[in-house]
Amino acid sequence: MTHERVSSYSHWISGRLTPGTSGRAGDVFNPSLGLVAARVALASEADVDAAVRAARAAFPGWAAIPALKRARVMFKFKEIVEQRRDELARLIASEHGKLVSDAAGEVTRGLEVVEFACGAPHLTKGEFAPDVGTGVDSYSLRQPLGVAAGITPFNFPAMVPMWMFPVALVCGNTFILKPSERDPGAGLLLARWLTEAGLPPGVFNVVNGDKVAVDALLRHPQVDAVSFVGSTPIAEYVQREGTAHGKRVQALGGAKNHLVMLPDADVNQVADALLGAAYGSAGERCMAISVAVAVGEDTGDRLVRTLADRVKNLRVDQSQNGDADMGPLVTAAHRERVLGYIDAGVREGAQLVVDGRGLKVPGHENGFFLGGCLFDQVTPAMKVYREEIFGPVLVVVRVPTLADAVKLVNAHEFANGTSLFTRDGGAARTFVQQIEVGMVGVNVPIPVPMAFMSFGGWRRSSFADHAMHGMEGVRFYTRLKTVTSRWPESDAGSGGKGGAEFIMPTMK
Ligand code: NAD
Repeated sequence: MTHERVSSYSHWISGRLTPGTSGRAGDVFNPSLGLVAARVALASEADVDAAVRAARAAFPGWAAIPALKRARVMFKFKEIVEQRRDELARLIASEHGKLVSDAAGEVTRGLEVVEFACGAPHLTKGEFAPDVGTGVDSYSLRQPLGVAAGITPFNFPAMVPMWMFPVALVCGNTFILKPSERDPGAGLLLARWLTEAGLPPGVFNVVNGDKVAVDALLRHPQVDAVSFVGSTPIAEYVQREGTAHGKRVQALGGAKNHLVMLPDADVNQVADALLGAAYGSAGERCMAISVAVAVGEDTGDRLVRTLADRVKNLRVDQSQNGDADMGPLVTAAHRERVLGYIDAGVREGAQLVVDGRGLKVPGHENGFFLGGCLFDQVTPAMKVYREEIFGPVLVVVRVPTLADAVKLVNAHEFANGTSLFTRDGGAARTFVQQIEVGMVGVNVPIPVPMAFMSFGGWRRSSFADHAMHGMEGVRFYTRLKTVTSRWPESDAGSGGKGGAEFIMPTMK
């Protein structure tokens, strides 16, 4: 299945492509060309019900398979994805607009979670305590929840689903993926490859769709857990609606990530870090840096001076160009939204040092392109500071001291990631201790945790008790059972003499 041959996407239920029943479909664009490249079926409640029934039916058999054997399917899947990484990357790039090399990077980061999940026998083993009482042992088990659903955003159509399903599956759950309707190709390709790797039918299903599909998953009595990644208003809704329907929910939301530059930091190093972190993938990353906080008297001037030319010279081109720095935005509607923010910034008095509006890419005049934009003299009251733009727009805020920078970051609605650039170890230590953000970098611009650590923000960037992947993922997709057991040496019993105890059992 390659994108050239696919003109319409349906669902993947019980190990095969399944047409929907809704009669509704949405457009999937090629953002580099600005054309509709495919149509995607938008599931009805009945389509979701069919997927949930398939997942429920497959659950007991899959859960009964030893974790080692479940992990072996993941090993095989890893091999398949590694061999075909390029095919997947090209498909992602053609629907999302990010560069092929960037898409290959997201597949690699997803594969790292698959590698982590291959350790399932170790990850799911419990604890054992002998002789908790005379002749009494105690041990714990981590057992699967049942049917888990994953609802994912457009910006990482392979990696974000791969934060979820490898861990969910090796823990013994079955899974239903509801990918973003803007780039649904990757989800279906991964489903096909999981089946090829030996996953039994019904263990992994895909329903494509919009709010109708999401609501049906959130309300379905046979869905036990929901993982969500997307914007904050929807994350909050998913968490509220899912928990109201008795499900375990982890919902990750939006971001506004600050990079704080102290006066002693190397300005060239910071400018390079910002260039990749703010403009890579056209800023459509939840860990993108969208605010640079310049600390001290002339830090802001030095930074903006160094950055301005580099932002002007960003190479913006269609996503298959290996020499480009960034591609187009995902849809024309999203570009309009980003343009609206730029207008608001200008209106509110921020200084637009680099204006990427009106950029045309020769040969791709209809593509959804926007050049890099840089705002200076931004204040915390401005809309471009307060809200997530999710485009190639970096704003610079100036503050006098590190304490002011910490106060600024801690006061923002979002708290996904942040980063400090300095040569001062003491200042870095203070920052790490005092900053109230989930993922923190020190001289690392995008501090995305590795697969064996866990990913998640604070405040309104996350509505979840457990972060994603790593041991937090294992905890989310399992429930704990603690067993206390005694095997009497003879079955003679107590002979009826003082056998029953009515007080709280304690070690005598
Ligand atoms: P989105 O919230 O629009 O969509 C996410 C998912 O929710 C999609 O599957 C979509 O179909 C569904 N959805 C959309 N509107 C809905 C509604 N009204 N009711 C129910 N479901 C609905 O997000 P997006 O635009 O696809 O992705 C970008 C957002 O995701 C950004 O805010 C970004 O910061 C965030 N994001 C966060 C992380 C993280 O780890 N915190 C990672 C990636 C992306």
